[in-house]
Amino acid sequence: MAKFIDAHCHLQNISDISETLDVAGGLGIEKCICDATSPSDWSRVINLSIKYPAVRGCIGVHPWYIKDITPNWPTQMRETLAMNPDLMIGECGLDSHYPGPEQQLEIFCEQMLMAHELGRTIWIHCVGAWDKILNVINKNPAYSTTTIVLHGFYASPQILEQLIIHPNIYFSYSPRILQPNLKHATKIIQNTPLNKILVESDGTSPAVVIDVVNHIATIKSIASDKMADIIYNNTKGIL
Ligand SMILES: [Zn+2]
Repeated sequence: MAKFIDAHCHLQNISDISETLDVAGGLGIEKCICDATSPSDWSRVINLSIKYPAVRGCIGVHPWYIKDITPNWPTQMRETLAMNPDLMIGECGLDSHYPGPEQQLEIFCEQMLMAHELGRTIWIHCVGAWDKILNVINKNPAYSTTTIVLHGFYASPQILEQLIIHPNIYFSYSPRILQPNLKHATKIIQNTPLNKILVESDGTSPAVVIDVVNHIATIKSIASDKMADIIYNNTKGIL
């Protein structure tokens, strides 16, 4: 039976987590990477990752929630990461549909620095700000050794071309790519190197990653089971 890992989800937002993980486990979904969004849900994610072996946690400050943070958040985040060596960083990033572009950038850069200094994988959310993300990564050569996951990845083939140059950037595809008529979806999946593809639910139903794997397999003309193995091993490699 094929095995899967949901590379980005928000299981902290549901109450029936045991049942959800049982269903997912029955389908071969071995692990779920659960991303926090602001200091208010860090402890919920950490507790889930302690209680359930199938949950791996990430903590971060999402650009939608920068209004919720207090000035000491970086200290609090560094201390929490130091106490929990298995925790990764996310979700963080930039979103042009939300206010405070300068503050978003400052908070994102702080988290990139933590990921680099502490050697933790970082999960990035980006909407309409690829130039800025590329700028942060390109102007800091040290980040070439940081493992970066672009979660819910969707961008033009031209942006993808600039991102795939970096050996440690992974592209995590969500159910969004299943939407018909999504302009660049087929092209960017065709152009994403096989060893850089991850899949995610970006929500509370990990089972959907199987549909995402099958869709990618069709586009790549690879058998579904083989595609599942490749993606599973890619994800294992960065945990
Ligand atoms: Zn998310």
